[in-house]
Amino acid sequence: MYNKSNYKFLLSDLSALNGVGLKTVNLLKKKNINNIFDLLWKLPKSYTDRSLSSEIKDLKIGENQTVTIIPKKYSFPRIRNLPNRVSCVDKTGELDCIFFNSYEGYIKKILPLGKEITVSGKIGRFKNKYQITNPKYISENSSLIKQKHNTYSLTEGISEKIYNKIISQIIERLPILDEWHSKEILKKFNNICWNDSIKELHKPENIGSYKEDFYQRLAFDEIFSTFLVNSEIRKKIKKNKKKKKIIDLRKQNYLINKLSFTLTNDQKISLDEINSDLSSSSKMFRLLQGDVGSGKTIVSLLSAFNTINSGYQVAVMAPTEILARQHFNLAKTIFPKNLNINFISGKSLYREKKILHQDLLNHKVDIVFGTHAIFQNKVKFKKLGLIIIDEQHKFGVSQRKKLSDKGGEDCDVLLMTATPIPRTLTMTLYGDMDLSIIKEKPSLRKPIKTYSKLENKIDEIINFVKKEINNGNQIFWVCPLIEESKKIDHSSAIKKFEYLKKLFPNQVCLLHGKTNPEEKEKILGNFLDNKFKILVSTTIIEVGIDFPNANVIIIENANKFGLSQLHQLRGRVGRGSKDSTCILMFKSNLSENAKKRINILKQNNNGFIISEEDMKIRGFGDILGFKQSGIKNFRLADPIHNHDLFLLAEKEIKRIENSKEDISKFKYLIKLYDRADIINDIV
Ligand code: ADP
Ligand code: MG
Repeated sequence: MYNKSNYKFLLSDLSALNGVGLKTVNLLKKKNINNIFDLLWKLPKSYTDRSLSSEIKDLKIGENQTVTIIPKKYSFPRIRNLPNRVSCVDKTGELDCIFFNSYEGYIKKILPLGKEITVSGKIGRFKNKYQITNPKYISENSSLIKQKHNTYSLTEGISEKIYNKIISQIIERLPILDEWHSKEILKKFNNICWNDSIKELHKPENIGSYKEDFYQRLAFDEIFSTFLVNSEIRKKIKKNKKKKKIIDLRKQNYLINKLSFTLTNDQKISLDEINSDLSSSSKMFRLLQGDVGSGKTIVSLLSAFNTINSGYQVAVMAPTEILARQHFNLAKTIFPKNLNINFISGKSLYREKKILHQDLLNHKVDIVFGTHAIFQNKVKFKKLGLIIIDEQHKFGVSQRKKLSDKGGEDCDVLLMTATPIPRTLTMTLYGDMDLSIIKEKPSLRKPIKTYSKLENKIDEIINFVKKEINNGNQIFWVCPLIEESKKIDHSSAIKKFEYLKKLFPNQVCLLHGKTNPEEKEKILGNFLDNKFKILVSTTIIEVGIDFPNANVIIIENANKFGLSQLHQLRGRVGRGSKDSTCILMFKSNLSENAKKRINILKQNNNGFIISEEDMKIRGFGDILGFKQSGIKNFRLADPIHNHDLFLLAEKEIKRIENSKEDISKFKYLIKLYDRADIINDIV
């Protein structure tokens, strides 16, 4: 027998349930339903009220009804396409049960002649007789089916009947778990416990009751468990003691004063936050978040400089070689000449690499830039004090944690992302890190003028492009990215390239999905060197690279992109002091809704606001790349509708962190809800 308080039942394999065969288990596994707990979130979509049973004479054609009948006669025609039929009666009339694709043996078993049987299904009428085709619920025990039945969105191959059977079995055996929440939190949900909440969740009449206490409580559990795990990871990293770095502010400020610009307030605040982490005795694990062009690089380089002055080495990793090289070049211009600055390239000669590896190991190199090649096992540092990672929003929680472990004893970690996202998402995605945000952009920067144009006005666009080129400017031309068909993308970009090449001979280059990485870096490099005036591309132009001379971006079929994506693309231009333009091209007149979206973009240059709006329109799963980010898919919680629950969870986590409360009471919550690989070493 099972134990009512045993949470393990929920984590057991589906085959632990009665009447669930291997076939069903495998079908559910394909849907990522691996254990009983997963099934709890398979929620009914609607329900059929089978409680209204009727006599045959009162049956309503076209409706789902339940009726108790006595089978009188079988007719199995044994001719292809003719269905099997069972003629049935009650006191008031006749009804046929019709079966397509069912064996005689099965039919005889479920509808034995002369017995009282309750059947349910949609009532039809054929040749003056009522009939039910493939009746759904057939039972000798009429009370079993004379009730409300949940309708699930079915996994192919599993019938509704089986679903109902499985779920009701789970609900019946649901363990009673010790409450994990504090009294104060519980009060907000009218003290409803987890067990009762799950039961309510599966009641047919509660479908869609998102505002009810049981639903809110369960959504809160989900959010809270994510935050709690994040908080535990952060605590764990902080527990690692390191040697304090000694920040030489005099040297730092000397460098700052030599810059051609003054730091914005947010840049200064972020730098202070980083410095205070560097000089503390706990490891830094910080995310520097800021809109495109907000000037994160300089902040990171200043912290690198401080780290070097404290006697340590620094590693800076970027997603592409070209971006890594830009950072490298910037470092060479702003850092004093006596620093040893180096670059690891995938293309470097074996001999060169070997020397570099040796120099890193002997602390002859102070700072090294590169792609992920920096973190190969053979690359070892004498005294690594800081790892900086640029533009890696695709790193998941566990990858980040590994990174912090990898750096070694005294190594701090700084991540940077130019993906402004709504606050609820930041807490969800990056709650394991401390956060510095750069909200304001350098004041000299002019807003990018954004226009929308119908495709058939391309002549006007071409004239505009001509003018810009004559003024010495460069242009990005982005062709539509249609996920379903890489082939179409490919050919549409090539076509546009051919078309533009005729108008602008020798001035156009092309990048598409099939360009290999090496070729791509070369093309981008040429464009950067101003060897071409127009870059046609399908793939999203590499994040982070500074193209100071490009000030126009044209985006075809712009409605294929989300707002955040358009904002990111637009951020490729307008980094210098020139006027810059973004032209959004559309195939046909915009719908009212599309106009609204485009207006948000035209009127806003703030990625944080745009991402909030984008999320409201498209849902959080779709905004910019988060599908690949390893973001936890909430089953009930929704960052838009449950905004208040996210804030409540954040507050509760802070309370727990400050009170240093024992978190073992959350053991089951974490075990049930969260990422098994991380939690194992936490609880
Ligand atoms: P991102 O935050 O997108 O990584 P970058 O660090 O690449 O942005 O900075 C974009 C551009 O803005 C660079 O050319 C940089 O030199 C410049 N910049 C950075 N900070 C300032 C500032 N405070 N004032 C003026 N320009 C700045
Ligand atoms: Mg950047």
